[in-house]
Amino acid sequence: MSENILKISGLKIAYGGIQAVKGIDLEVNKGELVTLIGANGAGKTTTLKAITGTLPGCKVEGQIHYVGSSIMGTNSFELVKKNLAMVPEGRGVFTRMSILENLMMGAYTRSDKAGIQADIDKWFGVFPRLKERSAQLAGTLSGGEQQMLAMARALMSHPKLLLLDEPSMGLSPIMVEKIFEVVRTVSAQGVTILLVEQNAKLALQAAHRGYVMDSGLITMNGNAKDMLDDPKVKEAYLGEG
Ligand code: ATP
Repeated sequence: MSENILKISGLKIAYGGIQAVKGIDLEVNKGELVTLIGANGAGKTTTLKAITGTLPGCKVEGQIHYVGSSIMGTNSFELVKKNLAMVPEGRGVFTRMSILENLMMGAYTRSDKAGIQADIDKWFGVFPRLKERSAQLAGTLSGGEQQMLAMARALMSHPKLLLLDEPSMGLSPIMVEKIFEVVRTVSAQGVTILLVEQNAKLALQAAHRGYVMDSGLITMNGNAKDMLDDPKVKEAYLGEG
């Protein structure tokens, strides 16, 4: 039996009178790379914010379980301590700190110095661009490099679940390919990932399973490879068919 890391049931979220998420179910099991795709405004980011407890003033109904316990109403600081990591849209690296300092900040909840160093070496292996530039200020990195740094920093916290919100946003096509390559590599290291993406094709190619969100509802879900072949997905989300 696969271990359930995230289980969302009947989630509804309203911003004032606007129902942005209308009752969705979604699961992520240990070791899986699951993608949530859908058009602008479908409710993907709102769903991630509900998981990370960053929707002040919103009406949130339903259930969210993370490694077996309800996290409804848990604040983001508590969730970081529970090893839940989020790389938000727009990244948010510490621009006045070096790459190495950013990675150390990612490990701030840990005290195992040898383990931290081993992880820095490990993730520098996956992100060689960061290794080459380890002393460079994060604010001077390209958008794609900052995205990689934000991911590497999140990984330094040993996440049981890594939430990625549109990592390919605003990047050049070559950098987008690189980011997806890195996401696959990180997944192959056994990290459990929920990836929100508008680039449905690359996301489904990288993922084990996928969910399609449309106007606040999950309209389809399944094996990612099957979804890539689905005529409805092809027409609506892949620009094919
Ligand atoms: P995108 O890919 O454009 O980020 P998304 O699928 O992530 O889209 P959300 O950002 O979750 O979509 O938005 C879902 C809906 O909720 C949209 O209609 C949006 O306008 C609305 N919404 C988001 N944030 C707020 C807010 N703070 N106040 C009011 N409405 C909001």
